[in-house]
Amino acid sequence: MTAITNHLPTEELQRLDAAHHIHPFSANHDLGTEGARVIVRAKGIELTDSDGNQILDAMAGLWCVNIGYGRDELAEVAARQMRELPYYNSFFKTTHVPAIALAQKLAQLAPGDLNHVFFASGGSEANDTNIRMVRTYWAMKGKPEKSIIISRKNAYHGSTVGAASLGGMAGMHAQGGIPIPDIHHINQPNWWAEGGDSDPEEFGLQRARELEEAILSLGENRIAAFIAEPVQGAGGVIVAPDSYWPEIQRICDKYEILLIADEVICGFGRTGNWFGSETMGIRPHIMTIAKGLSSGYAPIGGSIVCDEVANVIGADEFNHGYTYGGHPVAAAVALENLRIMEEEDLVGHVRRTAPYLKDKWLSMTAHPLVGEAKIVGMMGSLALTPDKPSRAGFAGGTGTAGLIARDRCFANGLVMRHVGDRMIIAPPLVITPAEIDTMIARATIALDETYEILKNEGLLRAA
Ligand SMILES: *Cc1c(COP(=O)(O)O)cnc(C)c1O
Repeated sequence: MTAITNHLPTEELQRLDAAHHIHPFSANHDLGTEGARVIVRAKGIELTDSDGNQILDAMAGLWCVNIGYGRDELAEVAARQMRELPYYNSFFKTTHVPAIALAQKLAQLAPGDLNHVFFASGGSEANDTNIRMVRTYWAMKGKPEKSIIISRKNAYHGSTVGAASLGGMAGMHAQGGIPIPDIHHINQPNWWAEGGDSDPEEFGLQRARELEEAILSLGENRIAAFIAEPVQGAGGVIVAPDSYWPEIQRICDKYEILLIADEVICGFGRTGNWFGSETMGIRPHIMTIAKGLSSGYAPIGGSIVCDEVANVIGADEFNHGYTYGGHPVAAAVALENLRIMEEEDLVGHVRRTAPYLKDKWLSMTAHPLVGEAKIVGMMGSLALTPDKPSRAGFAGGTGTAGLIARDRCFANGLVMRHVGDRMIIAPPLVITPAEIDTMIARATIALDETYEILKNEGLLRAA
């Protein structure tokens, strides 16, 4: 096999890209003048761009390439499955072997009685399924008025109309006529940004109790479900105080509402367990999965559903499904990904390596810009601030430092994303201690350079 290395010059690729390709979550006119970075190859945890630069990918693509790039086994399984059965569906009383095998495997890996899988092509579609599934569940139990789903501000649950409605991203809600009706958002457990003078654990309890307050004010008889990410990912790797999740679980139990854990990022080893729900000690009725399920090698997601919900909705036709749900090639790739994860004990690797990463990550708080360092397993964040004691933002507005730091990371051969002024990582789970050292060294240089730029431009001022 020959690698696809011959391509047009970078400038020409960028010109064509700007002329014809609309990018997600981007101001496309700006991209047109700057030119997008063209990634042509990747191996392990390293990307190569069209100019031959090597970049350490501390974001695992979009939080998904958990087993790292360039695993031939997945390519081979995909080719074999394409030759044998490239496509079939599971509508109308048919099925196929990859979907059966993957559903069984997921039922085995998932905790408790999460034994049933409804497939989709990604996390957004799976969350759309969840909206319809929980409302259908309550309707079939004779309680159609239980249709409200409670979510959180600054949550990310995807970008379809339904999933973006569940999400709590203000910028997304400002466009395209969302949220849909009967979605309610409570505040997030983000102590750094919103905790004021309170004690973090007190704050965690208070934010969890907003769920109870919402249930009581909206009416207990109206609530279908609560959805949350075990650790907020796209919102900035926000780790809730320890007091938060036990209280959420207590409230969900007390009012008998369905708990949906969006495991799209936290699932498949990211937090040091197979699922983030295990790390946070919660017992969801439904888990949303995608991303790490196939390590991003093929688009696949789904909902893992408990016995009770599956049994109730199974009594009648559930008028819902996606042409590519459980696609045989994607399912075969996901299955191989999970096989490799088990064979190489990747979850164990995360547990063994995470303490090393944590140690290095927390020591970043010595940097003059870093006010807070948070990390769970292999997802971490740094809050940048011009004034640590007050946890203030920058006078120049949110993202003043984050944007500069993100660009300095790129210039130093590192993909680290920014969410406002939080810098975040979620590297491939296969990362080694030596690679962690490289990542931290590059991040430190990038932060040093960011500090100098902020200082020289007079931007180190508190809002
Ligand atoms: C990425 C993400 C989604 C959306 O998944 P897509 O595959 O992009 O549709 C949903 N929930 C969470 C927590 C995510 O991080």
